[in-house]
Amino acid sequence: MTPEEFRRHGHALIDWIADLRACEYAGDCRVQSDSPVGALRAALPKHPPLTGQSFEAIRADLDRLVLPATSHFQHPAFFAYFPSNSSLASVLGDLASTGLAQLGLNWASSPALTELEEVATDWLRQMLGLSAQWSGVIQDTASTASLVALLCARERSTGYGAARGGLQDENQPLVVYTSSHSHSSIEKAALLAGFGRDNLRQIQTDADYALKPDALTAAIRTDIAAGRRPCAIVATVGTTTTTALDPVAAMADIARRHEMWLHVDAALAGSAMILPECRWMWEGVEGADSLVINPHKWLGVAFDCSSYYVRDAEHLVRVMSTNPSYLRTAADGQATNYRDWGIALGRRFRALKLWFLLREQGVEGLQRRLRRDMSNAQWMAGEIDAAPRWRRLAPVPLQTLCVRHEPTGLDGDALDRHTLDWCARINASGQAWLTPAQLDGRWMVRVSVGAEATEREHVEGLWVLMKSVVDSADGPDPAR
Ligand code: PLP
Repeated sequence: MTPEEFRRHGHALIDWIADLRACEYAGDCRVQSDSPVGALRAALPKHPPLTGQSFEAIRADLDRLVLPATSHFQHPAFFAYFPSNSSLASVLGDLASTGLAQLGLNWASSPALTELEEVATDWLRQMLGLSAQWSGVIQDTASTASLVALLCARERSTGYGAARGGLQDENQPLVVYTSSHSHSSIEKAALLAGFGRDNLRQIQTDADYALKPDALTAAIRTDIAAGRRPCAIVATVGTTTTTALDPVAAMADIARRHEMWLHVDAALAGSAMILPECRWMWEGVEGADSLVINPHKWLGVAFDCSSYYVRDAEHLVRVMSTNPSYLRTAADGQATNYRDWGIALGRRFRALKLWFLLREQGVEGLQRRLRRDMSNAQWMAGEIDAAPRWRRLAPVPLQTLCVRHEPTGLDGDALDRHTLDWCARINASGQAWLTPAQLDGRWMVRVSVGAEATEREHVEGLWVLMKSVVDSADGPDPAR
């Protein structure tokens, strides 16, 4: 494709994206794809084309085949998982990044890629109210960042044991502690970092699903008495199921007392820390060693963009660095080589999409949107609390509600079936998208407010839909 052909097709493709967004924002499409399993695969040729095809033909298949098998996370009735906003300014940043075709291998391979990442992560640090002790790097996902955190914890506890015999040389097993409500990526990170499932403690939570510091202390004491070595604690600020807030300050105290690493997973809730009134939720965060927030969730940066912050960048570099001769340059020692701040060698110019969003929205624009979402979630919490037979199952500190409709006389497995049924009917209708999840062994439904296009009217519309779906399932009930 020549630059002139690119110009022509590119303009058309931007129009296509703009039209799609307009349609999504207007709610003129179903939210979740209803494409049957294997349908797209079956519709596509089994073998690659031998000769090149026209871009028009590719575009036509994008509309005809691919689009029907996509879901619309930018739809105002997207209430599933967590918000996965992809603000249009950041889409343009991603396009610029791909078009610029930079490859970060070291500072010299693309000074702009490195220095813009330093600036954008530092702007974000300031927005989050974090002290200047923190240094940031962009990773692909929170899962990767948490793996890096546990690798750093392991290496601190073993005095850089990886440079010798690794964990296999340790005479005491190292133990990782997290809450039973932490994200599955923490368990995965602990296993991948070699701690072993036997050395992962999933600590009990309180009535609000936050880790109980007393239970954490007791587990640490038991491990020490048994000859094991406490290594790392992972606190979650905004758990995936209920957005519970682990007590970071108390956990930081415990970590300090036992010389353990403290990692804070604020993948979702971190975005809310741009609001000064929310910062109590991670009080004590300055006592952590590392933390991750996902600007690719609620904040609005197009996936993928996860910001990982550490207090001791030298330690991170010592754990992660490799120094093959072909990557050495005269700038080493003066400039940052981000390949030493994570797992991958080559890196994309992800900072552009974060920088585009921060500049186009400004701090105040982003704050306004997040405050709107929290207020909409509070509105819905009030409605649920006032409605007979509906129950809110957890506090709503942020933008996610956990709800159940509990008809009289229904409990146990029958209640589970009812819950899964009304949620599935809403999702199948294409009018909204919610996620069912288990809490205390029973199904409930998460309503996660915060898509960029979601206004109060859409949350009101969802509430009407939820009530009408349970009514049509169970027949009229005057008390409902
Ligand atoms: N941590 C928490 C609390 C999450 O809710 C999630 C995903 O929703 C993750 C980690 C994983 O995020 P990622 O997809 O960036 O790995």
